[in-house]
Amino acid sequence: MREEDLLHAESYRDRASTVTNSGKRNWIYALKPSGKWYRYRKIIAWFYLASFFLIPFIKVNGLPFMLINLPQGKFILFSKIFWPQDFFIFAIAMITFIVFVVLFTVVFGRLFCGWVCPQTVFMEFVFRPIEWLIEGSPSQQKKLKESGNKTKIAFKKTVKHILYFFISFIIANTFLAYILGMDEIIKMIREPISDNLGLLTGLIVFTFLFYSVFAFVRELVCTTICPYGRLQGVMFDKDTMQISYDYKRGEPRGKFRKSSERTEGDCVDCKKCVQVCPTGIDIRDGIQMECVGCTACIDACNEVMESLNFKKGLIRYASENEISSGTKFHFNARMKSYTILLSVLMVAMAFLIFTRKTIETNIIRVRGQLFQEVAGGKISNLFDAKIINKTNEEVPLTLKLEDLHGEIKLIGRQRIKLKKEAVNEYTFFLEIPKKELPKHSTRIKIGVYRDNERIQTIRTKFLGPFNNNF
Ligand code: SF4
Ligand code: SF4
Repeated sequence: MREEDLLHAESYRDRASTVTNSGKRNWIYALKPSGKWYRYRKIIAWFYLASFFLIPFIKVNGLPFMLINLPQGKFILFSKIFWPQDFFIFAIAMITFIVFVVLFTVVFGRLFCGWVCPQTVFMEFVFRPIEWLIEGSPSQQKKLKESGNKTKIAFKKTVKHILYFFISFIIANTFLAYILGMDEIIKMIREPISDNLGLLTGLIVFTFLFYSVFAFVRELVCTTICPYGRLQGVMFDKDTMQISYDYKRGEPRGKFRKSSERTEGDCVDCKKCVQVCPTGIDIRDGIQMECVGCTACIDACNEVMESLNFKKGLIRYASENEISSGTKFHFNARMKSYTILLSVLMVAMAFLIFTRKTIETNIIRVRGQLFQEVAGGKISNLFDAKIINKTNEEVPLTLKLEDLHGEIKLIGRQRIKLKKEAVNEYTFFLEIPKKELPKHSTRIKIGVYRDNERIQTIRTKFLGPFNNNF
């Protein structure tokens, strides 16, 4: 290894690729990738972007397909309303998600970051292409900067930043549509600004946030800010699949010379893999936390290998064990245990979602009330019913006493008709013939019927006299 490479190999972990020796920001001018992996990522990115912008417009049975209204505690997924009462489903969903992310990371490294993380998708497939379009390729950008042509620079930068701001504004609107619903956003657009100052402020804050992230912060989100990126190191092991440089095959690196027989490894030290890297690292230094797994270096290196008639795959998806000892990828004990845990959680999730009630009834005897003897030799108890209707339609219901003869008399209403998406409260007297109550406290069952179908059975207690000598 040459002396400069040796020095670099020993010092690269002491420096951030995005900071110059004098401590200033090292602006990354990444080359535009091209190749098989970039094409695949582009397809996924466009599908992803189309889904992101279209989902807020999709409604099924009058309900948004997805809504995450944290301030009101209202969540809609797949057009099904989830209430705070369903919070345990969310808790299990969150745990399942975390286990999934951990398992996924243990096996496939930063695949999420490179392929579907919103930061990467928006940066690499929306904002950076706009930069290439307006300011040209990275070398043209550098040339323009060095030329000192202030008018041209100012013009290009202004156009770029106006476009960046406009796109950030659209992203912020879409983001808010996931929280408030598209109807609310459209209403806000139609109403006078003074009626929606709070929302408008939120919109502007989000717009500036997205704009500053994509215009200035960029790869620092992945290399410095993102907690998932920081955690990667503890999840990886030697069997983790990641983007790796095959140092066994590539080293010792050396320039390609047509005339002489090659004695070095396959790396011709062209540095294409470095120039294309959006985080500015050299993958040949080994696995690094800054690598977002974007595959750009695989494409760049494959192109070089192909042009020299070398075998492709000097940089490829491979585990450390695969590179160092040639062993094939295998499912190790840690991966197996995570998979079992994940399967159990997924089954539990499916069960909870499948058995989740859209109407939830709770009936309790009114506190402080005992019983009353009423006409016809009957005993009466007063009950409160709280019925949550999670659907977006009004639902007529009937309550019936099961197993015993009795009558339910609603107070102030003729029948039960649940308001949509609301907690409905009713009070009723339940009258049971005295002769059917042999004890002071009798366990009773009240059936909740929708369209003559019993959807729930409530168990509670009915109080009668202590000495019921019928
Ligand atoms: S090292 Fe390769 S995969 Fe990692 S961020 Fe850089 S270009 Fe992308
Ligand atoms: S692109 Fe391939 S050949 Fe060129 S420096 Fe990187 S690893 Fe070596």
